[in-house]
Amino acid sequence: GKRINNAVNGALSNSKDDYTTTVDIMLKTIVTALLESDVNIKLVSQMRNNIKSKLMESKTASSSVTNAQTKKLIQETVFDELCNLVDYKSDQPFQPKKRQTNVIMFVGLQGSGKTTSCTKLAVYYSKRGFKVGLVCADTFRAGAFDQLKQNAIKAHIPFFGSYTEADPVKVAAEGIAKFKKEKFDIIIVDTSGRHRQEEELFKEMVEISNVVKPNQTIMVLDASIGQAAEQQSKAFKDSSDFGAIILTKMDGHAKGGGAISAVAATNTPIIFIGTGEHIHDFEKFSPKSFVSKLLGIGDIESLLEQFQTVSNKEDTKATMENIQQGKFTLLDFKKQMQTIMKMGPLSNIAQMIPGMGNLMSQVSEEETSQKMKKMVYVLDSMTKQELESDGRIFIDEPSRMVRVAKGSGTSVFEVEMILMQQQMMARMAKGAQGAGGMPGMGAMPG
Ligand code: GDP
Ligand code: MG
Repeated sequence: GKRINNAVNGALSNSKDDYTTTVDIMLKTIVTALLESDVNIKLVSQMRNNIKSKLMESKTASSSVTNAQTKKLIQETVFDELCNLVDYKSDQPFQPKKRQTNVIMFVGLQGSGKTTSCTKLAVYYSKRGFKVGLVCADTFRAGAFDQLKQNAIKAHIPFFGSYTEADPVKVAAEGIAKFKKEKFDIIIVDTSGRHRQEEELFKEMVEISNVVKPNQTIMVLDASIGQAAEQQSKAFKDSSDFGAIILTKMDGHAKGGGAISAVAATNTPIIFIGTGEHIHDFEKFSPKSFVSKLLGIGDIESLLEQFQTVSNKEDTKATMENIQQGKFTLLDFKKQMQTIMKMGPLSNIAQMIPGMGNLMSQVSEEETSQKMKKMVYVLDSMTKQELESDGRIFIDEPSRMVRVAKGSGTSVFEVEMILMQQQMMARMAKGAQGAGGMPGMGAMPG
């Protein structure tokens, strides 16, 4: 993301009057960055062409496009194009109904996160008033049932499985029968994802599916799988015709570009993402957040959601009100920092703040926490007037930065970095206020 923005800035200052060259340079850099994030090469080149023709159109429409306008246009176009790719809307999204049996079957390669995601989904529905049961139809791996059982017990979800039965089809059928009889609303069937031979695995999926007759089949995909996502999801689609994807391990370094190919290759939406090993590390999929992460620009929506769950209600209220009015002061930024420090695992959270993902991704948790403490010292050294401002006061009077740097034992550069981040948040707040969404890549100042 930062790389993309830097490239955009660089290209603009280098060739001020040659629109086409500028656009080409920018596009080339964006293309490279997307390929590095595992976005499929066909999709990237398609997108490149779309963007280029849109940009050329706008050039003809207006003969005097400024560099700033070009930059904004490119940023918005890239963001929108990526959102379109990943925001696949199915005609009939699955909605479980209470007081009838809804069967959900999980498929996906071993290790992708099926067993973990099964429990997360069970908790999700159970919180919404459904009676949910888990069935372990993985008889291939010793310990598979124990794993599901432990997860289920922790989450207080009823479960079914067998230590002795070797046939997964039989276990699945028994589990369904039991929970059906007990009038469960949702029965989630976990499968193995492994076999001595791949063909056997797909055959097994078909057999289980024929018996459990799922109302929804979900494929679980590891975000770090990269380019292999396309082949893998196609293979599962052929045998299991899943109707939804859960993308796991989005908390790691993988940006999940491969998932875009999975969506495109199977015409299937991503419905949830896994963001950690714990039951609650589970979020509804949001195309905008996904693309923001892919481009490394931070994600105000999920940040605010997390922020609300942890922080002091009164503080949050004031900040939320500010954001709704399109404002984000240094004080909001400070409160947010303090909340984030309470929230822990820092590396997770920090990635959601604009600019922080890049800043923090290469360092240890301890370093991250040190950096954040420093940021709070800087903010502590500001006056009330400064904190309640939009930050421009520092640009008008740079001597204030020197004073704050001295007072906090940091450097002017560090103060500037913080101001820059607050400015990014302020821009996002402004964008979020208007369209009800975030403004995409227009987050970098300049
Ligand atoms: P399965 O073989 O498909 O059933 O996969 P599991 O559910 O057993 O998960 C494999 C490993 O990935 C386990 O160590 C999980 O804790 C881990 N895992 C699953 N989902 C996530 C996730 O969203 N984030 C992280 N960091 N780890 C995950
Ligand atoms: Mg499993």
